[in-house]
Amino acid sequence: MNTRDGKSTSPWEKAVPFVEEKDAELPKKYNVLIVGAGITGVTTALMLQNQGLDCLLIDTNTIGAGTTGGTSAHINTFLDATYPEIESDFSEDAASLVAKATKEAITIIKNHIYELKIDADFEEKKAYLYAEDEKQQKELDEIYEASKRANVSVHQVGKEAPLPMSFLSALMFDGQAQFHPIKYISGLLKEFLRKGGEVLEHTAFKSCKIENDCHLVQLGDLEIFAEHLVYATHIPPGINLFNFSCAPYRSYVVGAELKTDHYPDSLWYDMQEPYHYWRTHVIDGKKTLLVGGEDHKTGQGNPAEALQHLKDYVSKYFEVDQFTFEWSSQYYIPVDGLPYIGKMPMADENTWVATGFNGNGMIWGTISAKMISDLIIGQPSDYEDLLNPSRIKPVAGFKEFVTENANVAWHFVADRFTAEQLKAVDALAPNEGVVVDSASGKVAVSKSESGHIKAISAVCTHAGCIVKFNKLEQSWDCPCHGGRYDIDGKVVTGPPLQNLEKLDWSELKA
Ligand SMILES: Cc1cc2nc3c(=O)[nH]c(=O)nc-3n(C[C@H](O)[C@H](O)[C@H](O)COP(=O)(O)OP(=O)(O)OC[C@H]3O[C@@H](n4cnc5c(N)ncnc54)[C@H](O)[C@@H]3O)c2cc1C
Repeated sequence: MNTRDGKSTSPWEKAVPFVEEKDAELPKKYNVLIVGAGITGVTTALMLQNQGLDCLLIDTNTIGAGTTGGTSAHINTFLDATYPEIESDFSEDAASLVAKATKEAITIIKNHIYELKIDADFEEKKAYLYAEDEKQQKELDEIYEASKRANVSVHQVGKEAPLPMSFLSALMFDGQAQFHPIKYISGLLKEFLRKGGEVLEHTAFKSCKIENDCHLVQLGDLEIFAEHLVYATHIPPGINLFNFSCAPYRSYVVGAELKTDHYPDSLWYDMQEPYHYWRTHVIDGKKTLLVGGEDHKTGQGNPAEALQHLKDYVSKYFEVDQFTFEWSSQYYIPVDGLPYIGKMPMADENTWVATGFNGNGMIWGTISAKMISDLIIGQPSDYEDLLNPSRIKPVAGFKEFVTENANVAWHFVADRFTAEQLKAVDALAPNEGVVVDSASGKVAVSKSESGHIKAISAVCTHAGCIVKFNKLEQSWDCPCHGGRYDIDGKVVTGPPLQNLEKLDWSELKA
């Protein structure tokens, strides 16, 4: 059973494949160790295995337990970083290159599905992006012009777009798609295993050192050597450059069954702040409307409120019979809008990274796999320079990142050095949590459904910020870099490598 990185359940989780556990009889030397078994890691592993390299794929949890198991799985040629933004912050050529990458990723996904006969509920769709006021209209017009320049297939459709709300005008992008992300990566995984690839679930990467020009990695009791190391962990573990160039966000999705059969047959996106998007997926034989959005910075919003806003939004436009799913997951906004894919900066040779995908990881995870596998076998990649993880790019746009991530520094200082007053833990409601001060430091205290109090250190093991309770996911979330822990202190989302220390509440209280 997949545990994902929270308490809420996505519809994809049921399809998580069973991976047979192996004893430590693995070969001890691999060409490549791929850390993280989401869409990025699994696709990379298969592509490298196809090149004849001997690969080991590990995950601290199960296959797809990260954001790939909590995604909404739209596959797009237009991205969260819009083409006008990419043109203005990079160049027109860069925008064309990004557009090319989106099309290449869709082709790769389609080819995998076709060649490996993967039943991944894949459907090609039209997508509509629509403006509801004059400001959005201006932005939409700019997106239209820049998308055309980037050679993306887009059409102005005015009022003919099949939307349930009033709007000024819309763009229609064709050649978009949707699928079941876990069924898709399960198909890739099956082929990877068939070709001799090795997988270890519940195996955390903690650290490595270089010996004989290889990465020597301790995996529990097992020591392995790998010529190459790929961080497909969404955000690389530990303290690194990306903690300051990728901002963690929580994002929400609900599934609803409608009273009528008025389910959208296309992908829709509004331009509000925070935005919303939706599509239809048949889940267990029932049409389900999936609506996502209401994002906020990790540890800094109110998850229950965000989810309620999303439900209110859906109910405003659709006749909801019942909400059948609600879940949240995490993504990372890169400081200049584009992902970081390639050589890991300030790391040993032959260390590779893929991070900063924003809400477009189906595309970027797939392109990462292509790029990293090409680079490892010595093939150039068209996107190598543009997406170079070591690029230094002055931030011109992406206000969102600058304003919201500016408070990382504030949290660093305020959380570490400002003492708060002791809160009345006894007054906690079941399934609630609070951070209190004690003589030995800040303590994260939560109360279970049955009233049992659990106490753990509130100091994130990653960089020392103070975690905040997330009632929806029953997790402790760090507002600085997005580290997340369950109520027992176990890491559920990177970058922390160590669990939070368990404390004895009765002793602390005494
Ligand atoms: C709610 C939501 C909706 C989204 N919708 C879309 C969408 O419609 N379309 C789209 O393109 N993108 C979407 N995204 C983004 C997309 O889902 C992600 O970018 C993508 O799933 C990331 O895949 P990944 O394989 O890189 O990371 P993950 O799927 O997070 O996988 C990383 C894996 O690494 C493992 N790991 C981490 N640290 C370690 C360690 N130290 N040792 C071993 N294993 C480790 C984790 O357990 C995890 O399984 C959405 C994101 C969210 C949050």
